[in-house]
Amino acid sequence: MTESVSASPALLEVIDLRACVADQEILCGVSLTVRAGEIHAVMGRNGSGKSTLSKVIAGHPSYTVTAGSICFNGVDVEEMSPEERSRAGLFLGFQYPVEIPGVSNLEFLRVATNARRQAQGLEELDTFSFEDHLQQRLELVQMDPSFLERSLNEGFSGGEKKRNEILQMALLEPVVAILDETDSGLDIDALRIVAEGVNQLAGSSNATLLITHYQRLLDAITPHYVHVMAHGRILRTGGPELAHELERRGYDWVDEEAGVSSRTSAEVSA
Ligand code: ADP
Ligand code: MG
Repeated sequence: MTESVSASPALLEVIDLRACVADQEILCGVSLTVRAGEIHAVMGRNGSGKSTLSKVIAGHPSYTVTAGSICFNGVDVEEMSPEERSRAGLFLGFQYPVEIPGVSNLEFLRVATNARRQAQGLEELDTFSFEDHLQQRLELVQMDPSFLERSLNEGFSGGEKKRNEILQMALLEPVVAILDETDSGLDIDALRIVAEGVNQLAGSSNATLLITHYQRLLDAITPHYVHVMAHGRILRTGGPELAHELERRGYDWVDEEAGVSSRTSAEVSA
């Protein structure tokens, strides 16, 4: 890590964040700073709160923030709707992308891209110029153009849905992209395509937060920081070597060194 990277502006600043769902506290004080040019990985057992963190940052209405703050690109997002956060350049790739029958993938991508372009002060693209714009991004994810004519994610395989997420990301040019287990359910080829897409889109003015519990994605995308989440908190932060250590030793030692009791009943090993 060079000094210039650590001195770059914070694009995402989460401070002592607490959040509940149905009166149960899931996030119990998460702090995380992601700066321009950085790739962070968040790892942890199932049930440790990783997806909840990503959904709370994106503004999912099921979760209530009870304390702390989320600053995105210098702005406190508390009053911003999920749509406003998205238009401002916050992208969330879902662990389980939804299927929307009747909405053409092409039309969805065009509307979403234009909403984002408007927020960026760029001109909207009409159907023809959008298709040109789309072409090079399609190549990035090696996706068959026939997928554009289909309903959004309907009948897509797991790998195709995840590629479609990366295509959305390539079109929306997010400031901060959060990818929640984009690697799960992918075969080796799809994993490589997703990793190449993420690597090509990562630049000095944006940042990526990868949520994963496997080392294999991090073999293809080297993060600057690795965080371990457990019991709704970040228990440990390190460099890429931490992911290798987790691969070798599992998660229990992180709990022990942090002095917290081992996994709760809701948390299971990956
Ligand atoms: P991870 O992504 O690390 O596997 P999650 O954030 O999905 O973990 O879940 C953390 C905990 O919060 C789990 O115990 C889960 O059951 C609970 N949880 C998350 N969302 C909800 C919800 N909408 N309703 C009830 N419980 C939830
Ligand atoms: Mg999850």
